[in-house]
Amino acid sequence: MQMNPRLSGLRCIRCDSLWPPADYPEGCPSCLEAGHPASLECCYEPSAAPSIPLPVLDPVTLGEGATPCLAAPALAQAEGVGQLWLKCEGANPTGSHKDRMAAQLVSRARLAGATRLAAASSGNAGVSLAAYCAAARLDADIAIMRDCPPLQREAMQRFGARLRAFEDSLSRWPYVADLCRNHGAFAGTNYLNPPVGTHAYGVEGYKPIAQEILDACGVPTDIVVPVARGDLFWGIFLGWQHLLQAGLIDRLPRMHAVEPYARLSRARATGDARKTWEGVTDQYSIAGSTCTLQSLEVLSRSGGSPVEISDAAAAQAQQRLERVGLATELSSAAALAAVSRLRRSGLVDAESSVVLLLTSDGRRG
Ligand SMILES: [Zn+2]
Repeated sequence: MQMNPRLSGLRCIRCDSLWPPADYPEGCPSCLEAGHPASLECCYEPSAAPSIPLPVLDPVTLGEGATPCLAAPALAQAEGVGQLWLKCEGANPTGSHKDRMAAQLVSRARLAGATRLAAASSGNAGVSLAAYCAAARLDADIAIMRDCPPLQREAMQRFGARLRAFEDSLSRWPYVADLCRNHGAFAGTNYLNPPVGTHAYGVEGYKPIAQEILDACGVPTDIVVPVARGDLFWGIFLGWQHLLQAGLIDRLPRMHAVEPYARLSRARATGDARKTWEGVTDQYSIAGSTCTLQSLEVLSRSGGSPVEISDAAAAQAQQRLERVGLATELSSAAALAAVSRLRRSGLVDAESSVVLLLTSDGRRG
């Protein structure tokens, strides 16, 4: 395990300032001071190597990545699109895409000399970080919500994490901030409000999803991703951006963000992602009242759209996936419901090739 020697720095996605390789859990220091928290994007020295660069080489691993990308011709026909593919992130070791982030993040924490990691999680990230911290022999403190599904709570405890429960999403962050700023914990998730998202090195772990989709089905016209703070959305986009800049593809797929109620669509209207937009949903993995600048960036750079999906529509999609043998979390199934919405609005059509990110399996509801 070592840092990638080609990692040359980090660039702010808002002000373009460059920073030397280091840990910036609060994003760009200049933008933070200016009251506009903004995340940083990793920069690498050019290389002839074909693989997508990541910050940590030979990271701690539990076998994450290389998940199935399944063709779903019957669903494609039902939706009236040319092709539909299902990227099954539930096949990761702890059952969600978060394992890709955890492998890079926890490895970086180890290399940085940390003995303790702190994170706020609605469930999947907490389980994943707890597992990878166990693998790397780090202590894990996870701030969860009181309504965290019992199976996820128990999984975190079995991996040895210390848990603290809070009433709502925003109240977890000051607790995590205190552990990171004053008690030497390495930040496993965002803890700022307005949020900047997870540590840039962790988000990089999602980039290989773009390569895996490319290998399975070429460059799709559209990718649909369930989004809360947008770590996954941004990470997959960074992967496609790398492939484009390396000359390996000649266009970007459009990336659409699925959300349970209007956050990104309202933020996009004003160009300001710092407000809060309240809503109630059972799609707990994409709940919360905030969104991020990087999610807006993905929409504008890829030409995608935010798509609001109600719990009722997500539940119907969940049943449709179950009838073809796929168990998914409600927020994952919402991606299928989003295809119907995109089709009705004319944003996808019979020529479209669409990839859905099924972010986690259905074991935990
Ligand atoms: Zn900045």
